[in-house]
Amino acid sequence: MKTCPHCHNENPVDFSYCRYCGNALNGVPENKPKSIWKRLPAWVWIILIVGGIAALILTLIGSFIAIATMEGVASIVILICGIVGFGVIPLRRPDRAGSFARAIGLSFFALMGATVDQTGNFLYNKPIEMCFCHDGTSLTRDIDVTNPIPGQTNITQDYTCYDSTGKAAKTINIFAVLGIRFVEYVILGYLLIALRQVRWRIKNNR
Ligand SMILES: [Zn+2]
Repeated sequence: MKTCPHCHNENPVDFSYCRYCGNALNGVPENKPKSIWKRLPAWVWIILIVGGIAALILTLIGSFIAIATMEGVASIVILICGIVGFGVIPLRRPDRAGSFARAIGLSFFALMGATVDQTGNFLYNKPIEMCFCHDGTSLTRDIDVTNPIPGQTNITQDYTCYDSTGKAAKTINIFAVLGIRFVEYVILGYLLIALRQVRWRIKNNR
């Protein structure tokens, strides 16, 4: 006889399930409850999938707007890309890359900086102010958001020098801004390459 582990009644030896309570007798695998994911009805899955896609799109749009409008966001993102790309963190052995390969790496980095980091930040926009805003005027960055056709949003940066009375003294050509940004990112790239060499020397005590 088999004793049921649930109700403790006796069952014949060849029984797999208890004849009193229906539970599995010893030696028979119990039916495990299905995981919560398998018990979800289809309509819940629809909500989860649609919600997930919507969240992904909103995150992408949000990142795009943050990069295009908030000073410093793109700078930080590209700085992190540069730190990894130029092998500072995680530290890579300084390569013997020729000038041409180095120029390609620096150009790519600077082009990315000039096109993506149009807002810049307080530090990166100082040289623009020094170059273009003379006679006590100061630089202000505004954003022009236009919707030329439904579904298309253009965000352009507007760099203007204002005098102390708040009058616009000079609007700076955006291509001049991009040119300065490009040079800034070339310099930043060189700094990152140098930082990698320094880290490597410290690590190897040389
Ligand atoms: Zn039983």
